[in-house]
Amino acid sequence: MENLIELDKKHFIHPTSSIQQQQEKGAKVIFEQGEGIYLTDKNGNAYIDAMSSLWNVNIGHGRKELAEAAAKQMEKLAFSSAFSTFSHEPAIKLAEKIASIAPGHLNAVFFTSGGSESNDSAIKLVRHYWRIQDQPNRRKIISLKRGYHGVAAGSTSATGIPEFWGMAGHMMTDFTHAESPYESSTEQAIASLRQVIEADGAEKVAAVLVEPVQGAGGVLIPPDDYLQEVKNVCEEYGVLFILDEVITGFGRTGKMFGMENWGVVPDMITFAKGVTSGYFPLGGVVVSDHIHEVLKEKSKGTLFHGFTYSGHPAAAAVGLRNIEIIEQENLVENSRKMGSFMLEGFRKLKGNLDIVGEVRAVGLLGAVELVQDPVTNKHFSPDLQVAAQVIEALHERGVICRAVSYGDSDIICFAPPIIIDENQVNTMLEKLHDSILTVQKQLGVAF
Ligand code: PMP
Repeated sequence: MENLIELDKKHFIHPTSSIQQQQEKGAKVIFEQGEGIYLTDKNGNAYIDAMSSLWNVNIGHGRKELAEAAAKQMEKLAFSSAFSTFSHEPAIKLAEKIASIAPGHLNAVFFTSGGSESNDSAIKLVRHYWRIQDQPNRRKIISLKRGYHGVAAGSTSATGIPEFWGMAGHMMTDFTHAESPYESSTEQAIASLRQVIEADGAEKVAAVLVEPVQGAGGVLIPPDDYLQEVKNVCEEYGVLFILDEVITGFGRTGKMFGMENWGVVPDMITFAKGVTSGYFPLGGVVVSDHIHEVLKEKSKGTLFHGFTYSGHPAAAAVGLRNIEIIEQENLVENSRKMGSFMLEGFRKLKGNLDIVGEVRAVGLLGAVELVQDPVTNKHFSPDLQVAAQVIEALHERGVICRAVSYGDSDIICFAPPIIIDENQVNTMLEKLHDSILTVQKQLGVAF
């Protein structure tokens, strides 16, 4: 164990982590095993994985069926190319399956290895769509403040959390951000969107890219009419509409895709994470019949965009089996039911604790805000790091989840595996109650 921590410090540069903290304190946990909603570390401590790790382990840990699907495919054909129109059965079947479960006209799939690659691919595909229709000036991508779309060049630029732009000193040109509907009303957010579209002329805008629920921004659920209004505005200005379903896809929100909660179908979606429940890196873009028709008719010669692992056979086999399990075990319905149950529990916490502000959830994607005064919604000073303290208290009680501290807001996010049952939700909520109470007392806000 000691040795592993030293080796980790010496050789492992962690993603989205503090290098300083790693060097001072060592790796926080070295996980060894997963089973259902639980993770176990090398010392035998068990934790509830209340975030499905990175919002992705939808069907839970330790599913032998997925290991078997990968092994079977690897023994038969671990890899072959999908470039230059070479093909193979797993990718064809997964593309067909995704087309069959995606709503409306979303029927053709481009595969990637994850969410960032998916959003970069969507950005390039929409620009290509305009170029082959003699509108090369339509390059601008409009996304939302507090939106998160990944860390590749285009997806970092589309991300609306400034810390991500600072890391390497700049972002790409032709990206702008409109107001999120979260801290304003639908009218204000739509007015901001119109303003951003019109800023340099709508004829320069390629697409609007938003998450159905802003995940990493703090599980920000839009007002009911917001997404339809965005779609209306896109249609009015003749701009393409892309929904980033990377977190919200594959049952997370109590529907197969997040957009179904609001009855909105865009021109394109991006997906990743839950498509394989994290058992294999896989993502992709699904485009509408109309876009596919334009590509078929006007995209001449080679489409100069493709990853070595676009449509990886083993990843595709795992994705297919994963979606089969979601369907056979009615996990979308379970996500909806357990999501309502979790939200009820959050509301009870709000009644019993003094520092709980807004609580929200759609399916098993939820958040609890911590505030100094729930009546006026006065936030704590960021120096107090209240959300981080609650995360630490949860950790001590065997629950792993994640805090978002954006500006001065303290938000605890929840996205447990969608196989979770009532008893397990109750255990998670009890531990949350104890953790918040402990921090509340430490803060001297005890009553
Ligand atoms: N889009 C959204 C909405 C995400 O939450 C994430 C990852 N958290 C991404 C894109 C990027 O995905 P990846 O980390 O797989 O590149």
